[in-house]
Amino acid sequence: MQVDVVTIFPDYLAPLDLSLIGRARRAGLLSVEVHDLRRWTHDVHRTVDDTPYGGGAGMVMRPEPWGAALDELTAAGRPPARLVVPTPVGERFDQAMAQRLAAEPRLIFACGRYEGIDQRVIDEAAAALPVTEVSLGDFVIFGGEVAVLAILEAVTRLIPGVLGNAGSLVEESHSDGLLEGPVYTKPPQWRGREVPEILRSGDHGRIARWRRDQALLRTASRRPDLIAGLPAGKLDKKDIALLVAAGFQLPAGDVAE
Ligand code: SAM
Repeated sequence: MQVDVVTIFPDYLAPLDLSLIGRARRAGLLSVEVHDLRRWTHDVHRTVDDTPYGGGAGMVMRPEPWGAALDELTAAGRPPARLVVPTPVGERFDQAMAQRLAAEPRLIFACGRYEGIDQRVIDEAAAALPVTEVSLGDFVIFGGEVAVLAILEAVTRLIPGVLGNAGSLVEESHSDGLLEGPVYTKPPQWRGREVPEILRSGDHGRIARWRRDQALLRTASRRPDLIAGLPAGKLDKKDIALLVAAGFQLPAGDVAE
């Protein structure tokens, strides 16, 4: 996958050289180019913002540098791309979106700052290429750079070959609509707290059932919305019996079974 990030703070993206993303880059599974938006400014102050039409607090990112940057990055001969614009007014980011983005050959990220990017930049881009406006959640941060880092962490680990053990992707939270249950490592006793006996039993069938039960109970107590959103038939008879015995409400389709 090829990734271009346009930002006024290229240094913010330095962590993309580290850890598993850095390793994926070195292995040729991911190519990342970070571009300074000010490269596409032409005045002495390299201005990227101006006051908002209609008045109000803060500044808005001017369309000209963004237009020139996107024209260059999407010019004929360049691989086709999807533009991803982090913004609190975007579609909420989740694992399903990470999976969709991981299937794209090329992503261009536009990092907003101040009060955001002039809307005409997004409208103009949407006429030429697919655009996803994406929100990390219902809160506001200073700029798009941290959002890009979070999105790229989620997306990169889904690219085949990036994770040493692809099994991690199958068993983890949000891969099948549930949260993962608790995990433990050595030592077996720590400050008087024991690792559950079953995990040390070597009985893989019982361990798998225990993990499923823990995932169901944790999801039902912390995120009942996820249980309610499971497709009908996703819960088997043992799942249903467990949740009913624990006093949780089930999706209508599953109760009827
Ligand atoms: N005025 C904007 C609003 O009220 O919707 C907020 C702008 S915010 C201060 C500046 C930039 O931070 C945004 O353009 C976006 O790039 C980024 N940002 C802020 N909150 C975000 C969120 N929840 N998800 C993704 N990006 C966010």
